[in-house]
Amino acid sequence: MSEVAAGFRELYGYEPDGVWAAPGRVNLIGEYTDFNEGFVMPLALPHTAVVAVARRADGVLRLHSADIEGPVVELRSDALAPLSGAGWAAYPAGVVWALREAGHAVGGADVHLASTVPTGAGLSSSAALEVVTALALRDLYELPLSAGELAALAQRAENAFVGVPCGIMDQTASACCVEGQVLHLDARDLSRRQIPFDLPAHGLRLLVVDTRVQHALGDGAYAERRAGCERGARELGVRTLREVPHARLADALRELSSPVVRGCVRHVVNENARVERVAALLAAGDVRGVGPVLTEGHASLRDDLRVSCAELDLVVETAVSAGALGARMTGGGFGGSAIVLVEEAGADRVAKALAVAFETAGLAAPRLFEATPSPGARRMR
Ligand code: ADP
Ligand code: MG
Repeated sequence: MSEVAAGFRELYGYEPDGVWAAPGRVNLIGEYTDFNEGFVMPLALPHTAVVAVARRADGVLRLHSADIEGPVVELRSDALAPLSGAGWAAYPAGVVWALREAGHAVGGADVHLASTVPTGAGLSSSAALEVVTALALRDLYELPLSAGELAALAQRAENAFVGVPCGIMDQTASACCVEGQVLHLDARDLSRRQIPFDLPAHGLRLLVVDTRVQHALGDGAYAERRAGCERGARELGVRTLREVPHARLADALRELSSPVVRGCVRHVVNENARVERVAALLAAGDVRGVGPVLTEGHASLRDDLRVSCAELDLVVETAVSAGALGARMTGGGFGGSAIVLVEEAGADRVAKALAVAFETAGLAAPRLFEATPSPGARRMR
């Protein structure tokens, strides 16, 4: 935190008005469901994007990242154009644009940032960056915006300004998660429920395994799966796949035109039911019972939606064979990260098995860390 403030001072030659932090996230369950108005259940990571920011009266926006080689990016807050390809700076600039588009009187700012959220690992470094920028500007410009509204504006920045068609989960997780809890989000009405997720109390751990691969396939495939879901909804005569009850799934599948669309529908409807099963298990204190639901979710992403890859499958198979309670890919897939739910006493065995499996397959060692449910976006000073 203090390094980011010091970095600001060194860069701009004066004190920032404040320092803010927003976390990356992992999704426990509920993948490819948010844009179908379904359920998701993310938790915030201890890894954060941190910004030191000062308000400027002249409308100038200066952006700098300690993590990117390159000069300060200088823009005018009243002359921002969507899809103008400003590289990394499009994320914070997009937030300024989205706030202004929504009618909020945001002017200039000097911004210096640094992030510990790994980028491109499916852990939402982009949402952390957007949300932390939105929060800082809300505070500095005294805007009457709730955490949920900040998340929606951050999503709009990513969709319309950066040009990435993401759902609402990542920004909501970063803005609204609470320490020690998972967030149950209904992406239809955006209602949120915090559910206690105290793994140490149950003798359990949740590991994040970053495969450190990202297959180029990913971007186009995400859009394709979205299109498949939309087509499924159209063929079934519903607005979104959220409207398809689990009990109607078998009938619904018979009405669909192609195996691809059937796979999309089967995944989304089953995945929504899995989120609700996990919510019920957690409410009943049966955290171990969540494990098999994760592994089932992975099979669905692999076989029905077909967004996994060899490295993610290797993590899941290896972890489960080594005694994990359950595991699944998390995030968009085609690389990125997987999560593993494991007994505290079995965590080392799983970690070793993963190291051996990756080495045997000729792959670079995956990066492992523990996911402790951490606080959402906040002001640090
Ligand atoms: P993910 O959100 O899964 O990490 P994305 O591709 O959505 O992956 O977002 C990563 C992008 O976000 C980076 O390529 C960069 O443009 C931007 N970004 C994330 N963290 C930083 C950072 N610390 N400094 C500058 N840009 C960042
Ligand atoms: Mg992202």
